[in-house]
This record gives sequence, C-alpha cells and structure tokens, in this order.
Amino acid sequence: MRNPMFVYDEEMADLIFGYCRERLALDPVPLDYGGYSTPLHDVLDGLISPDGNEPARVLQLFADRLATAVISSDSPRFVSFIPAAPTKASLLFDMVVSSSSLQATSWLEAAGAVCAENQALGVISHLAGLPEGAGGCFVSGGSAGNLSALMVGRDTARIRGHQTERPRFACTEEAHSSVGKALHVLGVEPFLVAAVDHRLTGEVLEAALGSGREGAADVVGVVATAGTTNGGIVDDLAGVGAVSRRRGLWFHVDAAYGGAALFAPTVRPLFDGVDLADSLVVDPHKWLFAPYDCAALVYRQPALAKAVHTQDAAYLDVIHEAMPGSEHAAGSGAGQPNGEEPWNPTDYAYHLTRRARGLPLWFSLAVYGTNAYRDAVEAALANAKESAALISETPYLELLREPTLSIVLFRRKGWSRADYETWSAELLAGQVAFVTPTTWEGEAAARLALLHPDTTVDVVAEIVDSMA
Ligand SMILES: *Cc1c(COP(=O)(O)O)cnc(C)c1O
Repeated sequence: MRNPMFVYDEEMADLIFGYCRERLALDPVPLDYGGYSTPLHDVLDGLISPDGNEPARVLQLFADRLATAVISSDSPRFVSFIPAAPTKASLLFDMVVSSSSLQATSWLEAAGAVCAENQALGVISHLAGLPEGAGGCFVSGGSAGNLSALMVGRDTARIRGHQTERPRFACTEEAHSSVGKALHVLGVEPFLVAAVDHRLTGEVLEAALGSGREGAADVVGVVATAGTTNGGIVDDLAGVGAVSRRRGLWFHVDAAYGGAALFAPTVRPLFDGVDLADSLVVDPHKWLFAPYDCAALVYRQPALAKAVHTQDAAYLDVIHEAMPGSEHAAGSGAGQPNGEEPWNPTDYAYHLTRRARGLPLWFSLAVYGTNAYRDAVEAALANAKESAALISETPYLELLREPTLSIVLFRRKGWSRADYETWSAELLAGQVAFVTPTTWEGEAAARLALLHPDTTVDVVAEIVDSMA
C-alpha cells in the first residue's frame, strides 16, 4: 500500500484551494489582532499525535484561532514597520512555486527557473544603472542580503591586499540594525561616521577617513542606505560612491526598503550614484509588491561574490564542472539579465539550497508590466506627500520632516511615549490601524509607512482623527 501522505487527495485539495481563493478575494484584507490574547497552547495541545487528524479540522483550527492571531501585514490598515502589498499575480504564482517544489539552486538542476529569476533581477539592476555584467540572486531578506554582500566586501579587500587585522566598514547610526548584526557575524567593526541631517554624505565620509582617527586606516568598505527604515531618508550615494571609488573601498548600498523607488521618475534623482555600488540590496517583499520572502542581491562584479560564496564539496563538483559553457560563468557574469549563460544562484550568497523565490516577482512583472509598478510606487509617494500636508494642517500634530519617500514622521503635541503606546493598542483593538510609535531624535514619535496602494489618505485621516 502506498503511504497516504503522497497520494493526491481531491477533497483536501478543494479544502485548501477554497481557503486560498477566499483569502485572495478578501477586499480589503482585515487587519486581525496578532498578539497572544487567548492562550494558543490550549488550541494546539495534543494536535500532533501518532494518528493525525482530519485535514478539515486542522484547517478550521488554523483559520479560526491561529490566522486571526497574526496581524495581516498586507492589510491597507497596516502602516507599522514596513508593510507588504503583494500583487494578486505574485501571490497566485507563489502557489505554483510551492506546488512544483521549485528550487533554483544551480543551473544544472533548474536553468528554467534561474533564467526567469535573473530576468527579474535584471530589471532592478538596470534601473539602478549597474553595468551589463552585474548579477546575483534572490535571498530571504535584506538581512541575508547585507550579510552576504558585506562578506564579499570584506574578503575582496583581503584578496586585493588591504592588510589589516581589524577590518572596518564605515556607516552611520542610521544604518539598519541588520548591518550591525552582519558586521558582528563577520568579525568586522563599524567605523561610525556622524550623519548630517540623518544622511551619510561624501564630505563627512571623506573628512572622517582622512582625519587620522583611530580605525580610519582599517576601513575596507562603506555601507550607505537608500531609504532608511525609520525615516525613508536616502544617503548621498553619489558623494559616498565617489569617495569609496577614490579610496578603493567596497561600496554597499542597502536599499531594502527604498530601492523600489528606482521605479519612480519623480524621486529617481535621489538615487544618483547608486550605479557606483559594488553590491546592492532591494527587498521586493517590501515595496515591490512580492510575497515573502524575497530580497534581490546584485553585485557589480559577480565573479568577486562567486569567489567568496561558492561551496566546495565532492558531491557538488558536478554543478560547477559539468555546466555546459561553464568557462563563461565565472568572469563575465554574462548570464544576466537574459539568462542565456549558465548561472548558479547558490554561488552568490550565504546559502546552498534555495527556493525559486524570485519567480512570483518575475511572473507579476511579466503580467502587469513595469509601468504598473511605476504607477503603484508613485501613488505611495503621492500619498505620503498628501498625508504630510494633512498632518501639517492639523493643529494638534507636528510634522517632523517632509517625507523623502513613503514614510511620514510626526508628533502629537504633548504626548509621552506611554500615550503613543496606549493609542496604538486602542487603534489595533478597534481594527482602525496597526501603527506603532518610533523614536525620532531621542523622543517618541508616530510613524506611518505607506506603500499599500489601498492605504489611502482617508485611512490616514482616520488615524489623524483618533489622535485629537
Ligand atoms: C527591512 C530592511 C532590512 C532588513 O530586511 P529583511 O528583509 O527584514 O531582512 C535591511 N535594511 C533596510 C534599510 C531595511 O529597510
């Protein structure tokens, strides 16, 4: 008798597809509550047992008790942290990736998936103005991207003979927390440069590096942020890139959140200089409307990354040696973006086996076209401006700065941190919005991250009214 786990069950398929259909059709997606208001261990207790359960019962339990205890990051009322807004096509195609067990580890195993992923990666690389040979892979998130890229930066410096016992990367306090974590993993110290109005500029970088300050001579690379997570602020990429070039430093651009705005002509000049990047990270699972988990990692010279990340093992030799045309793969990176040359995504980050996580984005880009992406990103930028204007006109609020991208920072006059926290909890309980406070220049502040196309200024107006 066949093991029942591997036999197609029409009834279970109907059940699951039925749930997926309902979920995909939700308009709008409800916020739901998150947290742990009812003890979930009662619900789960004894569920996993030697004999199993009816699928309908388990699904029901998931739908009623577990799914409702997750705040929907794709709800237009989710404006905390960085929301998600996956397109319908990307969500549907994610089910194809799952149903097909699609991996995209090596060319030998998965050339078709790799070609398509590289086409999507090529769109981002091209918008950034990186040269033809640029390429990389999709990783699980910006954190994984930063770690993989900085590892290449550190090792490339060593390979190029930059002698130092204590390599450092220059950055500001505004760099994402994952940059600090990555440096810690890599045994690299941050070389902190004071930001000017929350931005790293070429001028302050040059001054800090030329100052003879302790550690300046150990700097092997620089991390710039193109769209800080807290404020949506873009560093002086042209200035920082030029200093990095002149001094032979690795130039990493963390555009995990803000990189989507490369699609938007109205703000594209803010990104001038991104084309100088040695490595670039953009998270499609944030503002490029892809499902989790998906971050694009692109290197100007992929061969440098390959030299660092390729895993050697007897059983893996075949994916490197037996590749037809493998002589092209190392140096030129000609595989991208047209996917005609062999390419092993596994060689470009700290990972081996990997889900073909770029395909939902690829399908969606192919279906809707890049103009639809441009329009969706521009809509969020316009909404941020309009929301900022509304906040400016509201007497009990103070706008902290004009939004650069789609994050709006403001204060309720007279409120303490505790006031923000009470208000935030009430808003979630009332299912009005999920909006959590942040800290700005040492004090509590409200923060809206606006990227969902259905997060209209009407939703923002409700939030504003709730602070009266
Ligand atoms: C979100 C973010 C990250 C981390 O990305 P994950 O996908 O959450 O790992 C890194 N840098 C910046 C600027 C971000 O906004």
